[in-house]
Amino acid sequence: MTNMNINEGIASRCWCGKGIVTFVSKTEENPYRRFFRCEICLQRKKENHVFKWVDEALVDEIVRMTEHQARVDEEIEDLRISMKKTVQEEVMNHKTALDVGCLGTFFGLLCLWSKND
Ligand SMILES: [Zn+2]
Repeated sequence: MTNMNINEGIASRCWCGKGIVTFVSKTEENPYRRFFRCEICLQRKKENHVFKWVDEALVDEIVRMTEHQARVDEEIEDLRISMKKTVQEEVMNHKTALDVGCLGTFFGLLCLWSKND
């Protein structure tokens, strides 16, 4: 009955390339229930073009967005960890450079002191 991927949410195009149109159901089972349908389906009723209830599509869209949000949160956390690591490495490099500087100064003073001797 449907060609829409369950995780796709609201599709804008049918597999055939045509746009999706919103209709209102007039059946007894689903009175006034809105649905998405491929715009070509009215002429080609026997073919299996996109059909999806609007309410179900919206729920799928929310699920899709929630999954997307979780992926974005994960990426942000990875970036945060990576940034923290980079900053720590920079601090360590800077600290090492300072230590070498201090040591250099110490030896410099030692040289000066030994020359005075
Ligand atoms: Zn179609």
